Amino acid sequence: MDHYAIIGNPVEHSRSPKIHRLFAEQLQHVLAYEKIEATEKTFQEKVEEFFTKGGKGINITVPFKRLAFSISDKLGACASSCGAVNTLSFSEDGRVYGESTDGNGLVEDLKNNNIAINNKSILIVGAGGTAQSIIPSLLANNVGQLSVTNRTPNNAFKLKEQYLHLAEIVCLDGESINRNFDLVINTTSAHLSGELPEIEPIAVEKATSYDVNYSYGETLFQSWATNHGATKSLQGWGMLVEQAAESFYIWRGVRPKTRVVIDRLSSEPEN
Ligand code: NDP
Repeated sequence: MDHYAIIGNPVEHSRSPKIHRLFAEQLQHVLAYEKIEATEKTFQEKVEEFFTKGGKGINITVPFKRLAFSISDKLGACASSCGAVNTLSFSEDGRVYGESTDGNGLVEDLKNNNIAINNKSILIVGAGGTAQSIIPSLLANNVGQLSVTNRTPNNAFKLKEQYLHLAEIVCLDGESINRNFDLVINTTSAHLSGELPEIEPIAVEKATSYDVNYSYGETLFQSWATNHGATKSLQGWGMLVEQAAESFYIWRGVRPKTRVVIDRLSSEPEN
């Protein structure tokens, strides 16, 4: 049986084992998928131990995506442009291959929801790891203008600098925004402290809003956007399942159907 895992800290509440179990059931693949908790110090050792024992692939979650990038021998196109890895595989020549599937996961879910991004004006709220991971995939899909706003402006400027070779990203002060966008993507973890990012509500008026966070029921940002005139307000279950489907494809060469898994996952709190 092929073995896979997700490594992170915390990892206890990860939905990835359930998603991959549902993919495997759907495709009648036999596989095992476990959770591994690590620290900065033990991360590399735990990854190596897993692969030495014959493990085929590992998903990486917070806070190890940059570390996973640094231990990869070979990188996929998305990982090399964003500097982060959420999917590791062990190739037969003994080399570790790293790719980032978050960006393509988001773009797939936007497509699933009929949200066009070609030539559209997009505001990314937040400038952490997720913002960093999704920018190359958005740019690869010919977005119109890409803007970023973040609580700590300097982190938004760092993103702008990182992607200068790909596009001109506009950095905005959230509280000075005076127009709406076609699509507003919340990538902050503000909800963890029961907060909303501080942006002027006009940003989401008549816009589509997408919160990469997910919950049973509406997320805070999703409700806020609806209440401030967003025409469509979505949350991140779809992105979560789509990025997992991309990982599954990298590992096993076949892409599972996602709709049924998204519906099941977003409606069933238990594992
Ligand atoms: P990071 O820690 O790298 O970045 C967090 C971002 O949120 C930073 O921009 C930070 O701003 C901002 N932030 C945090 N607290 C607040 C606050 N109170 N008000 C305003 N801004 C705030 O996290 P990630 O980018 O890795 O993850 C962000 C979220 O995305 C997580 O909740 C994660 O679960 C979710 N996610 C969902 C995925 C999916 O598939 N649906 C995939 C990946 C992540 P500052 O720079 O000022 O600190």
